[in-house]
Amino acid sequence: MTKTIIHPQIGEVTLSTTARSVRITLSVRPDGRVRLSYPGWVTQRRALAFLETKCDWVAAARTKMERKYPVQPPREPVSPAQRAEAKRVLPEMVARLAARHGLSYGAVRVRATRSRWGSCTARGDINLSVSLLKLPTYLAEYVVLHELCHTVHHDHSERFHALLDRVTDGHHRNLARELRAYRP
Ligand SMILES: [Zn+2]
Repeated sequence: MTKTIIHPQIGEVTLSTTARSVRITLSVRPDGRVRLSYPGWVTQRRALAFLETKCDWVAAARTKMERKYPVQPPREPVSPAQRAEAKRVLPEMVARLAARHGLSYGAVRVRATRSRWGSCTARGDINLSVSLLKLPTYLAEYVVLHELCHTVHHDHSERFHALLDRVTDGHHRNLARELRAYRP
């Protein structure tokens, strides 16, 4: 049996009972998805009670995954025209999103960075990859929001994730998953 439930703190959790499993096991996949497996003789209620004791562990595991699997732009060339457009469009996007959410930042630099979508310095300057232009707008906005949230919290702490969740209307996890899975 496999089914999906929505846990108030964790979000989507896949429950699966297998004849072979001998105990309750909880796993977090690289994309942050959570799976709870248990033997057929364990009730769902008991498995969920186990899950309840592991919310902090899930949050810690996800944070670790995010560090381990950094989001990276695809390795493909950017034309001079795309670069020029990125330098025009992306600073506007930062200004618009910062104003909407009451966040402030220093300078915005748009570069042909291939190693990451964006970064934020300790001074609150934001660096963005020209490759962001190749993403659907809502995913590019998500990256910008991620970096803007770093002007408040310079880490990937729970407080950072709470802020990012607020500015994305609670869609932070889903957007992170989509971005990680995105292929042009
Ligand atoms: Zn970050």
